[in-house]
Amino acid sequence: MMCTDCPRFCKVNRNIEKGFCGAQNKIVVAKIIENFTWEEPCISGKKGTLAIFFAGCNLKCSYCQNFKISHSLVGQEFSPEQFRQKIESYQLEKYSAIELITPTHFSSLLSLSFENFCSPIPIVWNSSGYENEQTIEKIAKFVDVFLPDFKYADNILAQKLSFAPNYFERAKEAIALMAKLKPNIWQEGVLKSGVLIRHLVLPQNVKNSLDVLDAIKQIVDKPFVSIMSQFTPFGKPFDRALLPLEYKIVLSHAQKIGLNEGYMQDFSSAKTEFVPNF
Ligand code: SF4
Repeated sequence: MMCTDCPRFCKVNRNIEKGFCGAQNKIVVAKIIENFTWEEPCISGKKGTLAIFFAGCNLKCSYCQNFKISHSLVGQEFSPEQFRQKIESYQLEKYSAIELITPTHFSSLLSLSFENFCSPIPIVWNSSGYENEQTIEKIAKFVDVFLPDFKYADNILAQKLSFAPNYFERAKEAIALMAKLKPNIWQEGVLKSGVLIRHLVLPQNVKNSLDVLDAIKQIVDKPFVSIMSQFTPFGKPFDRALLPLEYKIVLSHAQKIGLNEGYMQDFSSAKTEFVPNF
């Protein structure tokens, strides 16, 4: 296949070549955690998700909190059929959802895995937001809940931190389409279908956060958002954690523009113990 799974449009034949993400014709899983309860309550529910952490990433942010798995492609390899069999080997009713974490660079392969797969629980697509509309249309056939990040409104920052100079435009288009395709449907406090948009506030970049929130307000009718303060510095490119004042300014802006459906993280979450250890 000539890969156009994400907005980088590398157009490489992944049977014999590698693009920016380095992924080829096998799905690579770094880790699976059962009954994973680290997500927002509407995703984790009471049971926690079957959380599948894919190896590698199409964005590779320099400050990634999961860099041990996102910046390498080390893990167990599966063909699309083998991956479906792996999912079927779990007793799915034990979880609130099947959660696919950083899956974008495996979009085409996962579409094959989930073709004709009838899941008894929602399938959650937990992604960076750096996605293209054709891919969203394709995966919406099996995804129930989109959980995208919306990281940047500032493309200079996106280029500097994630090598993605068109992040803002692509994320806006992708998230608007997700919201159009999956209206929110609730069951007992858990999203059965819908979109929860996440934004992680970065240190020293309050303006970027304010502009992201404004963009969310413009592109989605009644957005459901999660504003996160959990940034943990690992050295470059930030030499300090988020300040309480920076987070407060962002939360105040969210309230001012009417973004009041969703979650605002307790500032004390900015500790290393909230970062999964791989
Ligand atoms: S998924 Fe990987 S190979 Fe395909 S376009 Fe994106 S970065 Fe390039």
